[in-house]
Amino acid sequence: MSSSAVRISIVVPALNESPNLVPLYERLTDVLAGVDCEWELIVVDDGSTDNSAEVLNELHSRDARVRALVFTRNFGQDAAITAGLQAATGDAVIVMDADGQDPPEVIPAMLARWREGYKIVAGRRIRRIEHAASKRAFAFVFYRVMRAATGWDYPLDTGEFRVLDRAVVDVLNACPQRNRLMRTLSSWTGYAHSVVDYTQERRMHGKTKYSFLRSLRLAVTGLTAFSTLPLRIALWLGVFIISMSMVAALGLLLRSNPASLLEWGMLGLLLVSGVQCLLIGIIGEYVGRAMIELQQRPLFVISKAIGLDSPRQ
Ligand code: UDP
Ligand code: MG
Repeated sequence: MSSSAVRISIVVPALNESPNLVPLYERLTDVLAGVDCEWELIVVDDGSTDNSAEVLNELHSRDARVRALVFTRNFGQDAAITAGLQAATGDAVIVMDADGQDPPEVIPAMLARWREGYKIVAGRRIRRIEHAASKRAFAFVFYRVMRAATGWDYPLDTGEFRVLDRAVVDVLNACPQRNRLMRTLSSWTGYAHSVVDYTQERRMHGKTKYSFLRSLRLAVTGLTAFSTLPLRIALWLGVFIISMSMVAALGLLLRSNPASLLEWGMLGLLLVSGVQCLLIGIIGEYVGRAMIELQQRPLFVISKAIGLDSPRQ
Protein backbone atom coordinates (compact mmCIF):
# COMPACT_ATOMS: atom_id res chain seq x y z
CA MET A 1 0.00 0.00 0.00
CA SER A 2 1.56 3.31 -1.03
CA SER A 3 1.57 6.12 1.53
CA SER A 4 -0.29 8.37 -0.88
CA ALA A 5 -3.14 5.86 -1.16
CA VAL A 6 -6.56 7.37 -1.04
CA ARG A 7 -9.17 6.13 1.35
CA ILE A 8 -12.41 4.71 -0.02
CA SER A 9 -15.52 3.94 2.02
CA ILE A 10 -18.14 1.61 0.61
CA VAL A 11 -21.58 2.17 2.08
CA VAL A 12 -24.12 -0.62 1.66
CA PRO A 13 -27.71 -0.43 2.95
CA ALA A 14 -28.97 -3.94 3.63
CA LEU A 15 -32.35 -5.32 4.59
CA ASN A 16 -32.46 -9.10 5.01
CA GLU A 17 -29.48 -9.66 2.74
CA SER A 18 -27.55 -12.14 4.90
CA PRO A 19 -26.73 -14.65 2.09
CA ASN A 20 -25.41 -11.78 -0.05
CA LEU A 21 -23.05 -10.19 2.48
CA VAL A 22 -20.11 -12.61 2.29
CA PRO A 23 -20.19 -12.93 -1.54
CA LEU A 24 -20.35 -9.12 -1.80
CA TYR A 25 -17.42 -8.76 0.60
CA GLU A 26 -15.39 -11.29 -1.39
CA ARG A 27 -16.11 -9.64 -4.73
CA LEU A 28 -15.22 -6.24 -3.27
CA THR A 29 -11.98 -7.58 -1.78
CA ASP A 30 -10.94 -8.98 -5.16
CA VAL A 31 -11.79 -5.82 -7.07
CA LEU A 32 -10.26 -3.39 -4.57
CA ALA A 33 -7.01 -5.38 -4.44
CA GLY A 34 -6.42 -4.02 -7.93
CA VAL A 35 -7.07 -0.40 -6.94
CA ASP A 36 -4.43 1.68 -5.18
CA CYS A 37 -6.43 2.59 -2.10
CA GLU A 38 -7.19 1.84 1.51
CA TRP A 39 -10.80 0.90 2.03
CA GLU A 40 -13.53 0.25 4.56
CA LEU A 41 -16.87 -1.44 4.01
CA ILE A 42 -19.74 -0.04 6.06
CA VAL A 43 -22.88 -2.15 5.95
CA VAL A 44 -25.96 -0.56 7.45
CA ASP A 45 -28.38 -3.25 8.54
CA ASP A 46 -31.76 -1.60 8.10
CA GLY A 47 -33.74 -3.64 10.62
CA SER A 48 -33.14 -7.10 9.16
CA THR A 49 -35.01 -10.02 10.67
CA ASP A 50 -32.54 -12.60 9.34
CA ASN A 51 -29.06 -13.28 10.77
CA SER A 52 -27.38 -10.34 9.01
CA ALA A 53 -26.02 -8.86 12.26
CA GLU A 54 -24.31 -12.16 13.12
CA VAL A 55 -22.80 -12.44 9.65
CA LEU A 56 -21.53 -8.86 9.94
CA ASN A 57 -20.02 -9.56 13.35
CA GLU A 58 -18.22 -12.55 11.89
CA LEU A 59 -17.01 -10.58 8.89
CA HIS A 60 -15.70 -7.84 11.19
CA SER A 61 -13.69 -10.31 13.23
CA ARG A 62 -12.29 -11.80 10.02
CA ASP A 63 -11.45 -8.40 8.51
CA ALA A 64 -11.50 -5.22 10.63
CA ARG A 65 -12.10 -3.16 7.50
CA VAL A 66 -15.68 -4.39 7.59
CA ARG A 67 -17.81 -2.28 9.89
CA ALA A 68 -21.54 -2.21 10.44
CA LEU A 69 -24.38 -0.25 11.92
CA VAL A 70 -27.50 -2.10 12.96
CA PHE A 71 -30.82 -0.24 13.09
CA THR A 72 -33.44 -1.11 15.69
CA ARG A 73 -36.03 -1.45 12.94
CA ASN A 74 -36.52 -0.78 9.26
CA PHE A 75 -36.03 2.95 8.66
CA GLY A 76 -35.69 2.70 4.87
CA GLN A 77 -32.87 2.58 2.37
CA ASP A 78 -32.30 6.34 2.37
CA ALA A 79 -31.98 6.50 6.16
CA ALA A 80 -29.50 3.61 5.96
CA ILE A 81 -27.42 5.40 3.32
CA THR A 82 -27.56 8.58 5.43
CA ALA A 83 -26.20 6.70 8.45
CA GLY A 84 -23.45 5.13 6.34
CA LEU A 85 -22.40 8.49 4.90
CA GLN A 86 -22.16 9.95 8.38
CA ALA A 87 -19.96 7.08 9.54
CA ALA A 88 -17.75 7.01 6.43
CA THR A 89 -14.23 8.42 6.69
CA GLY A 90 -13.12 8.04 3.07
CA ASP A 91 -11.92 10.66 0.59
CA ALA A 92 -14.63 9.17 -1.59
CA VAL A 93 -17.67 7.09 -0.70
CA ILE A 94 -19.18 4.43 -2.93
CA VAL A 95 -22.84 3.72 -2.30
CA MET A 96 -24.08 0.39 -3.59
CA ASP A 97 -26.75 -2.27 -3.04
CA ALA A 98 -26.03 -5.43 -1.08
CA ASP A 99 -27.51 -7.85 -3.58
CA GLY A 100 -24.82 -7.76 -6.28
CA GLN A 101 -27.07 -5.98 -8.79
CA ASP A 102 -24.53 -3.15 -8.71
CA PRO A 103 -21.44 -5.13 -9.79
CA PRO A 104 -18.29 -4.29 -7.76
CA GLU A 105 -16.33 -4.94 -10.98
CA VAL A 106 -17.50 -1.52 -12.29
CA ILE A 107 -15.88 0.31 -9.35
CA PRO A 108 -12.39 0.78 -10.88
CA ALA A 109 -13.88 2.58 -13.90
CA MET A 110 -15.96 4.77 -11.59
CA LEU A 111 -12.96 5.60 -9.39
CA ALA A 112 -10.92 6.48 -12.49
CA ARG A 113 -13.55 9.09 -13.35
CA TRP A 114 -13.50 10.37 -9.77
CA ARG A 115 -9.71 10.74 -9.97
CA GLU A 116 -10.24 12.83 -13.12
CA GLY A 117 -11.99 15.32 -10.86
CA TYR A 118 -15.70 14.48 -11.05
CA LYS A 119 -17.23 14.86 -7.60
CA ILE A 120 -20.12 12.52 -8.41
CA VAL A 121 -19.79 9.45 -10.63
CA ALA A 122 -23.09 7.65 -11.05
CA GLY A 123 -23.56 4.18 -12.46
CA ARG A 124 -26.03 4.29 -15.34
CA ARG A 125 -27.99 1.11 -15.98
CA ILE A 126 -27.93 0.49 -19.70
CA ARG A 127 -29.57 -2.90 -19.18
CA ARG A 128 -31.60 -4.23 -16.31
CA ILE A 129 -31.69 -7.99 -16.61
CA GLU A 130 -33.91 -8.80 -13.71
CA HIS A 131 -36.52 -6.10 -13.36
CA ALA A 132 -39.94 -6.50 -14.91
CA ALA A 133 -40.86 -4.39 -17.95
CA SER A 134 -43.43 -2.49 -15.85
CA LYS A 135 -40.76 -1.51 -13.31
CA ARG A 136 -38.36 -0.47 -16.05
CA ALA A 137 -41.04 1.61 -17.77
CA PHE A 138 -41.96 3.20 -14.46
CA ALA A 139 -38.31 4.08 -13.75
CA PHE A 140 -37.90 5.45 -17.28
CA VAL A 141 -40.80 7.87 -16.80
CA PHE A 142 -39.80 8.72 -13.22
CA TYR A 143 -36.29 9.92 -14.13
CA ARG A 144 -37.59 12.08 -16.97
CA VAL A 145 -40.32 13.63 -14.82
CA MET A 146 -37.78 14.30 -12.06
CA ARG A 147 -35.43 15.96 -14.49
CA ALA A 148 -38.22 18.22 -15.80
CA ALA A 149 -39.58 18.92 -12.32
CA THR A 150 -36.34 19.67 -10.49
CA GLY A 151 -34.89 21.92 -13.15
CA TRP A 152 -31.32 20.81 -12.46
CA ASP A 153 -29.06 18.41 -14.29
CA TYR A 154 -30.56 15.18 -12.99
CA PRO A 155 -28.61 12.17 -14.33
CA LEU A 156 -31.07 9.84 -16.05
CA ASP A 157 -31.38 6.10 -15.35
CA THR A 158 -29.01 6.12 -12.39
CA GLY A 159 -29.81 4.49 -9.06
CA GLU A 160 -28.00 4.77 -5.77
CA PHE A 161 -24.84 3.14 -7.16
CA ARG A 162 -22.38 6.04 -7.26
CA VAL A 163 -19.10 7.49 -6.08
CA LEU A 164 -19.45 10.61 -3.96
CA ASP A 165 -16.45 12.79 -3.26
CA ARG A 166 -15.82 13.84 0.35
CA ALA A 167 -17.02 17.36 -0.54
CA VAL A 168 -20.41 15.98 -1.62
CA VAL A 169 -20.63 13.74 1.45
CA ASP A 170 -19.96 16.72 3.74
CA VAL A 171 -22.78 18.68 2.09
CA LEU A 172 -25.16 15.71 2.36
CA ASN A 173 -24.25 15.19 6.01
CA ALA A 174 -25.08 18.84 6.71
CA CYS A 175 -28.50 18.60 4.98
CA PRO A 176 -31.24 18.63 7.60
CA GLN A 177 -33.91 17.55 5.09
CA ARG A 178 -36.03 14.65 6.32
CA ASN A 179 -37.50 13.42 3.04
CA ARG A 180 -34.28 12.24 1.48
CA LEU A 181 -34.15 10.47 -1.82
CA MET A 182 -30.37 10.20 -1.74
CA ARG A 183 -29.82 10.04 -5.49
CA THR A 184 -31.81 13.27 -5.89
CA LEU A 185 -30.17 14.97 -2.93
CA SER A 186 -26.68 14.22 -4.27
CA SER A 187 -27.50 15.59 -7.73
CA TRP A 188 -29.08 18.63 -6.05
CA THR A 189 -25.63 19.55 -4.64
CA GLY A 190 -24.78 20.59 -8.18
CA TYR A 191 -21.25 19.16 -8.20
CA ALA A 192 -19.82 18.09 -11.56
CA HIS A 193 -20.96 14.57 -12.29
CA SER A 194 -20.12 11.87 -14.74
CA VAL A 195 -21.71 8.52 -15.52
CA VAL A 196 -20.31 5.05 -16.11
CA ASP A 197 -22.57 2.63 -17.99
CA TYR A 198 -23.11 -0.87 -16.66
CA THR A 199 -25.44 -3.81 -16.99
CA GLN A 200 -27.45 -4.34 -13.85
CA GLU A 201 -26.98 -7.96 -12.82
CA ARG A 202 -29.37 -10.39 -11.22
CA ARG A 203 -29.75 -10.38 -7.47
CA MET A 204 -27.35 -12.97 -5.98
CA HIS A 205 -29.92 -14.20 -3.41
CA GLY A 206 -33.31 -13.18 -2.07
CA LYS A 207 -36.06 -10.99 -3.43
CA THR A 208 -36.46 -7.28 -4.16
CA LYS A 209 -37.60 -5.13 -1.21
CA TYR A 210 -39.49 -2.79 -3.52
CA SER A 211 -42.96 -3.78 -4.61
CA PHE A 212 -44.51 -1.67 -7.35
CA LEU A 213 -46.50 0.19 -4.69
CA ARG A 214 -43.40 0.93 -2.62
CA SER A 215 -41.58 2.21 -5.71
CA LEU A 216 -44.56 4.44 -6.43
CA ARG A 217 -44.49 5.80 -2.88
CA LEU A 218 -40.78 6.50 -3.22
CA ALA A 219 -41.40 8.32 -6.49
CA VAL A 220 -44.11 10.49 -4.88
CA THR A 221 -41.73 11.29 -2.00
CA GLY A 222 -38.98 12.16 -4.46
CA LEU A 223 -41.20 14.42 -6.49
CA THR A 224 -42.99 16.24 -3.68
CA ALA A 225 -39.86 16.62 -1.53
CA PHE A 226 -37.91 18.29 -4.31
CA SER A 227 -40.42 20.02 -6.55
CA THR A 228 -43.56 22.14 -6.39
CA LEU A 229 -44.50 21.12 -9.93
CA PRO A 230 -47.47 18.98 -8.81
CA LEU A 231 -48.93 21.99 -7.00
CA ARG A 232 -48.57 24.09 -10.12
CA ILE A 233 -50.13 21.36 -12.27
CA ALA A 234 -53.07 21.20 -9.86
CA LEU A 235 -53.45 24.95 -10.04
CA TRP A 236 -53.52 25.02 -13.84
CA LEU A 237 -55.81 22.00 -13.92
CA GLY A 238 -58.18 23.92 -11.64
CA VAL A 239 -58.03 26.97 -13.89
CA PHE A 240 -58.62 24.80 -16.96
CA ILE A 241 -61.64 23.01 -15.49
CA ILE A 242 -63.20 26.24 -14.23
CA SER A 243 -62.81 27.76 -17.71
CA MET A 244 -64.35 24.68 -19.28
CA SER A 245 -67.35 24.76 -16.93
CA MET A 246 -67.90 28.43 -17.76
CA VAL A 247 -67.92 27.57 -21.45
CA ALA A 248 -70.33 24.72 -20.71
CA ALA A 249 -72.55 27.08 -18.69
CA LEU A 250 -72.65 29.47 -21.63
CA GLY A 251 -73.58 26.57 -23.91
CA LEU A 252 -76.41 25.56 -21.57
CA LEU A 253 -77.74 29.13 -21.42
CA LEU A 254 -77.93 29.22 -25.18
CA ARG A 255 -79.69 25.83 -25.45
CA SER A 256 -83.37 25.57 -26.34
CA ASN A 257 -84.08 22.44 -24.26
CA PRO A 258 -83.90 23.35 -20.53
CA ALA A 259 -84.37 19.73 -19.30
CA SER A 260 -80.67 18.92 -19.75
CA LEU A 261 -79.70 21.64 -17.26
CA LEU A 262 -79.94 19.24 -14.32
CA GLU A 263 -77.78 16.65 -16.03
CA TRP A 264 -75.18 19.17 -16.86
CA GLY A 265 -75.40 20.63 -13.37
CA MET A 266 -74.77 17.23 -11.87
CA LEU A 267 -71.86 16.65 -14.18
CA GLY A 268 -70.40 20.04 -13.28
CA LEU A 269 -70.79 19.34 -9.58
CA LEU A 270 -69.05 16.02 -9.94
CA LEU A 271 -66.18 17.60 -11.82
CA VAL A 272 -65.73 20.38 -9.30
CA SER A 273 -65.76 18.03 -6.33
CA GLY A 274 -63.23 15.80 -8.10
CA VAL A 275 -60.95 18.76 -8.67
CA GLN A 276 -61.31 19.82 -5.04
CA CYS A 277 -60.36 16.35 -3.85
CA LEU A 278 -57.31 16.35 -6.08
CA LEU A 279 -56.20 19.78 -4.86
CA ILE A 280 -56.73 18.94 -1.23
CA GLY A 281 -54.79 15.68 -1.71
CA ILE A 282 -51.83 17.41 -3.25
CA ILE A 283 -51.80 20.23 -0.70
CA GLY A 284 -52.06 17.60 2.03
CA GLU A 285 -48.95 15.92 0.68
CA TYR A 286 -46.98 19.13 1.13
CA VAL A 287 -48.50 19.92 4.52
CA GLY A 288 -47.56 16.42 5.65
CA ARG A 289 -43.99 16.88 4.55
CA ALA A 290 -43.77 20.33 6.17
CA MET A 291 -44.96 18.73 9.39
CA ILE A 292 -42.34 15.99 9.22
CA GLU A 293 -39.61 18.57 8.60
CA LEU A 294 -40.81 20.56 11.62
CA GLN A 295 -40.79 17.53 13.89
CA GLN A 296 -37.06 17.09 13.33
CA ARG A 297 -37.12 13.47 14.45
CA PRO A 298 -33.86 11.59 14.03
CA LEU A 299 -33.86 9.62 10.80
CA PHE A 300 -32.80 6.44 12.53
CA VAL A 301 -31.99 4.93 15.89
CA ILE A 302 -28.94 2.67 16.12
CA SER A 303 -29.00 -0.22 18.51
CA LYS A 304 -25.44 -1.37 18.00
CA ALA A 305 -22.28 -0.27 16.20
CA ILE A 306 -19.68 -2.82 15.17
CA GLY A 307 -16.14 -1.47 14.98
CA LEU A 308 -17.46 2.09 14.84
CA ASP A 309 -18.69 4.89 17.04
CA SER A 310 -22.36 5.66 16.44
CA PRO A 311 -22.55 8.65 14.12
CA ARG A 312 -24.34 11.86 15.04
CA GLN A 313 -28.10 11.35 14.68
N1 UDP B 1 -32.84 -1.79 1.35
C1 UDP B 1 -32.73 -1.26 2.64
N2 UDP B 1 -33.87 -0.90 3.28
C2 UDP B 1 -35.10 -1.03 2.72
C3 UDP B 1 -35.19 -1.55 1.41
C4 UDP B 1 -34.05 -1.92 0.74
O1 UDP B 1 -31.63 -1.12 3.17
O2 UDP B 1 -36.09 -0.69 3.38
C5 UDP B 1 -31.61 -2.17 0.64
C6 UDP B 1 -31.59 -3.58 0.08
O3 UDP B 1 -31.17 -4.52 1.05
C7 UDP B 1 -30.63 -3.46 -1.09
C8 UDP B 1 -30.90 -2.04 -1.58
O4 UDP B 1 -31.50 -1.33 -0.49
O5 UDP B 1 -29.28 -3.55 -0.65
C9 UDP B 1 -31.82 -2.01 -2.79
O6 UDP B 1 -32.99 -2.76 -2.54
P1 UDP B 1 -33.55 -3.86 -3.55
O7 UDP B 1 -32.43 -4.65 -4.13
O8 UDP B 1 -34.63 -4.62 -2.86
O9 UDP B 1 -34.22 -2.92 -4.66
P2 UDP B 1 -34.26 -3.19 -6.25
O10 UDP B 1 -32.84 -3.39 -6.70
O11 UDP B 1 -35.07 -4.42 -6.44
O12 UDP B 1 -34.90 -1.97 -6.81
MG1 MG C 1 -31.60 -4.87 -5.91
